[in-house]
Amino acid sequence: MNRGFLRGKQLDTSITSVPLIDIPREGKIQIPSESIVPDPDSIPTTFPNDREGLLFVTLPPRDAVGPNEPVTECILRPSVKEKILAIPGFPHPFSPPDPPRYQIKPIPGAGLGMVATVDIDVGEDIAIERPLTVTTQAIPGVATVPCLHPREFYRVLLERLDEKSYEELFALHNCKGNTRPEFMGIIDTNGIGIGTLPGYPAACAAVCKVISRANHSCCSNAVWRFHVESFTVHLRAILPIKKGEEIFVSYGYKERTRARRQKYLLERYKFRCTCFACASNTIDRDQARMMAVIATHPKKCEDDSTLRSWVTDRTKADDLIIAEARVMINIMEDEKFCYSSLWPVWYQRIVKAYCALEDEENARKWAQKAAKLARAWALHDGGWDAVAKNPRMTDWWGLRANTRSGIRMVGDLDDLNVRRDLLNTNRAGPGALEHIATSMKAKYPGLG
Ligand SMILES: [Zn+2]
Repeated sequence: MNRGFLRGKQLDTSITSVPLIDIPREGKIQIPSESIVPDPDSIPTTFPNDREGLLFVTLPPRDAVGPNEPVTECILRPSVKEKILAIPGFPHPFSPPDPPRYQIKPIPGAGLGMVATVDIDVGEDIAIERPLTVTTQAIPGVATVPCLHPREFYRVLLERLDEKSYEELFALHNCKGNTRPEFMGIIDTNGIGIGTLPGYPAACAAVCKVISRANHSCCSNAVWRFHVESFTVHLRAILPIKKGEEIFVSYGYKERTRARRQKYLLERYKFRCTCFACASNTIDRDQARMMAVIATHPKKCEDDSTLRSWVTDRTKADDLIIAEARVMINIMEDEKFCYSSLWPVWYQRIVKAYCALEDEENARKWAQKAAKLARAWALHDGGWDAVAKNPRMTDWWGLRANTRSGIRMVGDLDDLNVRRDLLNTNRAGPGALEHIATSMKAKYPGLG
């Protein structure tokens, strides 16, 4: 997934005329200040200098699991295999939700899809499965094993599948038609990126019999993550999912404009997306999305400079940080998108601000929400559980309390109906949002 179009863009939102404070960290619970999900842009798709070659390997080894436990056929470097086998307790046991929380059923106009059979909350498991195949995303075998074409690697890999797995793989959809051998079409259609593996810093991919069947939405309500210790893929909810609703993942490009998403999905997966964000009359929708993306990217999680200057600056409103974060979070909720690059920034800012203001109830509430999202995106709470449990013990507690300005920008936050119109009226963040809007219009003149 190429998301590099925003790289290099910097908005000047820092204020340097106010002295920054040092946050005392010793003995305190640190509010997470880093994104818990690796930036997909930082994972190379190829590993060009690989001289080690690749091998076919079954993981976990068949003799390490019970007779009915599925195993995965893999194409990996030998050293990666060794590193995975050296994980203490590998393979860790896993327990898919029982009874299953989804059903695979026909979806009008979209083949088969996954539908929730129960209500599923953010961060909860929808499905866990050991994939049919795991491979390096690029097969560098052309350079290292000249006798085998990458296509032949896959052919050999599939021949290693047991009969049941072979049938399950060939039952998957092939959107590529007759443009290539069927097995390549199926792998191309159903392969899902699983990030890096121990000892292999480039992208790897898996094909799953169930999770690969989830359809795409630019407003996806679920995300998959690979758990190397159990060698399983987890599908978890990133939005609340009601019983009977379809479970959607993103096939990529969801941070782009509608037109570019549609083009990508049509070219790559041969369908026209009709999701909530792609439905008619979407200029506002596109604007809101791109606004949130552009407003967020310059404010990496690690950058606390705006927060730290707000803490000591009496001329700034008490709810400045909170109001801006609420605008962004409300856009994400209204527009039904939850990007791994966006939510950590705004959740950590809002929790830090509530802690700085000694608002325990709200700090706890937003930290609990962040913990749920972290569990979906990273398979662990990311440090948010400790914050939710004891906001008073965090490194941001009370930092603003002694320098309160008493200035309220947007009235009573409890009754605050912060919606997209705030972006237009510019009430939430004086200067900042207007600056963002101007930048967005310059970047996307067609949207303004
Ligand atoms: Zn869409």
